[in-house]
Amino acid sequence: MVSRYILILFVWYLTTSFQVGNDRSLNFSSNQDNTQSVTSENQTIYSVHTVNLLAEDIYHIILGQNYTAIKITPLDTVKASIRFSSDFDSLNFGAVQTDENIDIPTSFAIFSQPTKNIKLISDKSLAVRIELFYASVLPLRSPQKKNKKSNCEKPITISQTEWRQGLPEPITGRNATVVKHCVIHHSAGNNGDTNYLNTVRNIYLLHTQSNGWDDIGYNFLIAPNGTIFSGRDAQNVADEDNIQGAHFCGKNGGTMGVCLLGNYNNVSPSLDMTSSLVSLLSWKLHKEDLETTDEFPHPNSLSDHLPTITMHRTGCSTQCPGDSTALLIDTIRQKVQTEIDNCKGITKVILPSTVYKQLIYPNPSDGRFYVMIEAAAHISTYRIVNLNGKELFTGFFPFNGRINTDLQNGQYILELYSELTRVSSKKIQIIRP
Ligand SMILES: [Zn+2]
Repeated sequence: MVSRYILILFVWYLTTSFQVGNDRSLNFSSNQDNTQSVTSENQTIYSVHTVNLLAEDIYHIILGQNYTAIKITPLDTVKASIRFSSDFDSLNFGAVQTDENIDIPTSFAIFSQPTKNIKLISDKSLAVRIELFYASVLPLRSPQKKNKKSNCEKPITISQTEWRQGLPEPITGRNATVVKHCVIHHSAGNNGDTNYLNTVRNIYLLHTQSNGWDDIGYNFLIAPNGTIFSGRDAQNVADEDNIQGAHFCGKNGGTMGVCLLGNYNNVSPSLDMTSSLVSLLSWKLHKEDLETTDEFPHPNSLSDHLPTITMHRTGCSTQCPGDSTALLIDTIRQKVQTEIDNCKGITKVILPSTVYKQLIYPNPSDGRFYVMIEAAAHISTYRIVNLNGKELFTGFFPFNGRINTDLQNGQYILELYSELTRVSSKKIQIIRP
């Protein structure tokens, strides 16, 4: 009998504690409050609405058509926590805020299924912009198992024309870039999402419609099952991996952006995902004749130089690609280097015109070594810096290429200059007997 009363009390608590505000209805299907909407193939694929939310009131939003993703942006400085639910999903956005350094905003959510009904509750009164996205759901492809290719061949990817079906084409106009840095990202959000094709389509809508970019920001996106999606459409300007993207806080020259789909702050990327990442990076570095130990100047580097395999957080103020990815970065570099070493001599490398063949011998050395580089590079001076970029030695490049140093044991960067232009930057190691 007592337990029965407890049960009644519990049910009373549940029903009253979640109905503190007024129920309100918002009709988004009438188009009256739309500030903007975009249509493709007779379907609204993007619409924007401005709403004043009152604290704890429950807003039942009638959409009039299916949508697949939502983004909520506060228009006030109020830090409100917004809960959202659809017929299939329930999510607490936490404190919604605008943060330009986050790849995918925390208040962007992709629905597990298209929905016509959503419900919003905010813990504080504020004005918000609600953006809705609709990417029609394409049939799921089976996981691609052929991504582990030998000889540093290009892994198989799902082309943009395959995954973009039914969505508007990207804006034309592409810049080619000579890639020196592969920048790793994650998409953040939640990890429950397993329809990766759907995720890529909705990120495409987010980047092109909400951000107003020409195309999806990344060059490649990798799903937890190892599937690699081609990102930014090359539009026949250059190879897709040499197209400048939008992912590295406004300094995208010399980079190729790769996004791991999912949130890797607390969860490690799957083996299938890292294996595809290693295949993709091995192919790319080998193609460009880069080593994982190479470092080059980049305006986004916090220490003057950026390594060839780097992370969004190394150049910009962001957590991306998550702490768990950061823990794996050295292992990823080692695996890529092993792949590249295995590939050397197997696949013909076409050198970009600005990279000259060179050899440092021996390396590691006892401080005395030879540097050989193509005469066309016109090397005049050299510089040795530590791994933090601090200059330790500088001098004229000797005619016979022989360099003697009295540096302590350790790793350094040897830079070769033609007049004032840095032509090469290679890691050297000194181990005295
Ligand atoms: Zn990022």
